Amino acid sequence: MTELALVTGGAGFIGSNLVLELLRRGRRVRMLDDLSTGLPANLEPVIDDVEMMEGDVRDPDSVGRAVRGSHVVFHQAAIPSVVRSVADPVASHAVNATGTLNVLVAARDARVERVVYASSAAVYGNAGTLPLREDMPTRPASPYGASKLAGERYLESFTRTYGLPTVALRYLNVFGPHQNPKSDYAAAIPRFISCAFSGDAPTVFGDGEQARDFVFVEDVVRANMLAMDVGDAAWGRAFNVGRGERRTVNELLTAIGSLVPGGHPEPIHASPRPGEVRDSWSDIAEARRALGYEPQVPFEEGLRRTIEWIARVHP
Ligand code: NAD
Repeated sequence: MTELALVTGGAGFIGSNLVLELLRRGRRVRMLDDLSTGLPANLEPVIDDVEMMEGDVRDPDSVGRAVRGSHVVFHQAAIPSVVRSVADPVASHAVNATGTLNVLVAARDARVERVVYASSAAVYGNAGTLPLREDMPTRPASPYGASKLAGERYLESFTRTYGLPTVALRYLNVFGPHQNPKSDYAAAIPRFISCAFSGDAPTVFGDGEQARDFVFVEDVVRANMLAMDVGDAAWGRAFNVGRGERRTVNELLTAIGSLVPGGHPEPIHASPRPGEVRDSWSDIAEARRALGYEPQVPFEEGLRRTIEWIARVHP
């Protein structure tokens, strides 16, 4: 029988892109999602091909049922927001850290062959030197970063203690189709594109000179596929998944302005938000070496495809 892949958070932005790729590769796919930020519409074209389980990663019984029979687990479910973690660190801990522990316990008990975990560059905090490298100290600047780091440490310990094969991927700033431009906590790229369409002034937190490493979701999905198959030298470890390029938020606005008819409206500047790091971009040499990861979608092409998607789905 075809091997079963479980995607937690499979109705979300990255999770739904993962589900689509797994189906393209002929896998059977199950997803566990509480639909708190995920949208079933993200999976509409494949709704009959996916086993949907509505449930909460905080609940060990739901997680146990979802993990049973799976060969590989892609654990994406989380409260993926620095701002929300600053407002409610206990909730972020419960979903991101305890939820991950629940997934690992279930994966250990079900003898799952691989757990791939969505970690975040937020684990580094404000690093003294850039680009970010995996051997640098982790000093989270937000409860979100701390909760994602707790998840990573649990993965590492489960590989060491129980021999569970795990790989953590530290995503940089991911963008692309299915990233919701309308949510209260929308990320910068979909928010700015949406503003460019509507003519509303986008809010930039700080002076806009903060640097980010924007990576297209297709490359992140590719990194997950590599982590699913990588040999034991990579187990229990964490890898940066970015493009390895530095771009400021002001450069991002200019790039969007050049692709959306009418350009982008002048931004409004607000104070930097607590918990957010000043600059973040990654060295991907270790992901290249250990996983064979190579980002393939140039930034401008990714942006064009994201703009097309937002124009079609959220006009
Ligand atoms: P998203 O909000 O679109 O997806 C998260 C999914 O998890 C949603 O479908 C949501 O409904 C589900 N979920 C939330 N709480 C849950 C719970 N208690 N039980 C079950 N399901 C739950 O966000 P995303 O951007 O796709 O993020 C996916 C993962 O990638 C997260 O783990 C996030 O921390 C990580 N990440 C994302 C980025 C990025 O740039 N988007 C960067 C670094 C890390």
